[in-house]
Amino acid sequence: MRKILITGSSSGIGKIAAEKLKVSGYQVFQTGRKKLDIENYISVDLSDPKNVNKLYNHVKKNFGDIDILINNAGECVYSPIDEMKLDETVRIFNSNFISHYYLTSLVVPYMKKNKFGRIVNIASISGVVGEASASLYSATKSAYFGFSKSLGLELAEYNITVNSISPGWVETPLTNAALSEEEKMVTLDVIPQRRFIEPVEIANLIKYLISDEAKGITGQNINLCAGLTCGC
Ligand code: NAD
Repeated sequence: MRKILITGSSSGIGKIAAEKLKVSGYQVFQTGRKKLDIENYISVDLSDPKNVNKLYNHVKKNFGDIDILINNAGECVYSPIDEMKLDETVRIFNSNFISHYYLTSLVVPYMKKNKFGRIVNIASISGVVGEASASLYSATKSAYFGFSKSLGLELAEYNITVNSISPGWVETPLTNAALSEEEKMVTLDVIPQRRFIEPVEIANLIKYLISDEAKGITGQNINLCAGLTCGC
């Protein structure tokens, strides 16, 4: 049975994806910021990349080697650039990208040895089209596009694929924290399909990208955004 590690799965997209993948026959290890009393879970703060060692060592000891990594944890910040403080900038970049880069570097040796691996990065359409007052968040997410392409090339001969999914607005606690009810109505007006994505739609795409059917897809970014990136 393939083993999956999914970050940021105490809530939102990651939580629903973990549930979906478990019922689909995968063994899933979850991590998030919240302390939860569930099987195969550890609470780790990824804003400090050194904590990745704690996560990796715990997973390896108690769960085993990882076949599939879902780099999902992340947080959104809206701020004009001249109001961002350096500490906060570094913290967000660590949480959204650097810790995942480091975690990936730790799981890849086993995948290479085993000649199988799937890495799925949850980016954002904010990294695809840009979003005013979200330049930092946008930068942390577009980092995954170069990462997926280059690492996809590096690992292609080992039957390891590396892809990104860029969701549009998804109905999760992150969205509820970012938008007031009034802002949600305004946002719905500019989404071509006039709806928020459901977390299970992202989970379904993850499930496909990690399947054998998707073995030829690597280095790609897939926008799952209800039409937001099509133009206006
Ligand atoms: P969420 O707030 O419901 O869940 C975020 C998860 O990430 C939680 O489990 C949280 O504990 C974890 N997390 C955040 N910062 C962390 C840290 N420093 N250390 C450890 N864990 C941390 O949000 P969500 O909407 O499910 O977001 C999941 C991913 O999808 C994020 O990377 C987000 O940027 C991305 N995304 C979300 C949307 C959206 O509209 N909700 C759109 C595009 C991309």
